[in-house]
Amino acid sequence: MTHWKKILQNSVSSPSELAQFFDFDCSPLRSVCASFPMRINPYYLGLIRSVNDPLWQQAVPSPRELNDSVCIPDPLAEEDLSPVPNLVHKYPDRVLFLVASECAMYCRFCTRKRKVGTTAMQITEKTIQAGIDYIRENREIREVLLSGGDPLLLEDDRLDSLLTRLRAIPTLEIIRIGTRIPCTLPMRITEDLANILKKHHPLYINTHFNHPRELTLEAMKACTRLADAGIPLGCQTVLLKGINDDPTTLKELFTGLLRMRVKPYYLFQGDLTKGTNHFRTHSSSGIKIMRKLIGSISGMAIPTYALDAPGGKGKIPLTPDYIISRGKTLSFQNYCGKLCTYPENGDPL
Ligand SMILES: *Cc1c(COP(=O)(O)O)cnc(C)c1O
Ligand code: SF4
Repeated sequence: MTHWKKILQNSVSSPSELAQFFDFDCSPLRSVCASFPMRINPYYLGLIRSVNDPLWQQAVPSPRELNDSVCIPDPLAEEDLSPVPNLVHKYPDRVLFLVASECAMYCRFCTRKRKVGTTAMQITEKTIQAGIDYIRENREIREVLLSGGDPLLLEDDRLDSLLTRLRAIPTLEIIRIGTRIPCTLPMRITEDLANILKKHHPLYINTHFNHPRELTLEAMKACTRLADAGIPLGCQTVLLKGINDDPTTLKELFTGLLRMRVKPYYLFQGDLTKGTNHFRTHSSSGIKIMRKLIGSISGMAIPTYALDAPGGKGKIPLTPDYIISRGKTLSFQNYCGKLCTYPENGDPL
């Protein structure tokens, strides 16, 4: 068995196992795991320093998951927007295609918590073939976003076969993979995997880091290997209350990602997913953080702060408002709050 599979196999998947590593009362967590699966692999477990630290909170179940009377199982209406199982067609030119049901860790804030890692997520050769057929038959689809679950947990040959079949569709231009593996199980990014991925360009990867302490040497090696295979890397971070919802933490994360050749792409406002309400912040806290970051760090380190609108209405950028008044002159504040004006040319459209 390969190295990364052995690591995955030794994951902690129950509160009592976790209690062998940390001193805490694990009994309240049992019922949580009956509803939402737990998996913390030894690599990520090794990054947790203490009970309730920012990495613990991402990985370890909390009784608050069961006390969520605000949120709903499928806030983005993914099931309603699926013409075939596990394929979400929300925008005209691109689709989200779920090709794996497992992850290297089950993040407590997962937007697809209703099914990831459970029997509710049925991915078979049949659903995969149906998805490929759908993409081939709908020629307006230019881009496929592979997700799950984590697509990079597929075996090398299965992944290669999937990518080869997608690449055989002439109207499909871009393949994008959404994966948390560089953060949660970086040793999965082997030389063999990089060699498979680079056969299928143009291929993009959006990974998912939420905290600067996740930017380890192993993560850096994984990202370097992917970048050296010519794969442009982006990051989709989730704004998480008590974990990364302050400008200092996010500045360190975004600039650190850039040093690892990963471009921060989205900072997501928390979705209304049942079991995750305790992670949600007020949107004003995200806007305040963005206002502090814009201008003070490299523009390349600035993601788009966005909210995925309930009901599958699409991603809405949430931007600090710099404009004070419009007219023959535009007046606005700059990044340090200074008043500025810009004379317009002609009349508004
Ligand atoms: C987020 C998402 C996409 C991709 O949106 P981008 O803004 O292009 O990153 C595509 N399909 C679905 C269903 C999505 O949720
Ligand atoms: S890796 Fe992504 S899909 Fe998997 S549990 Fe975490 S957030 Fe959900």
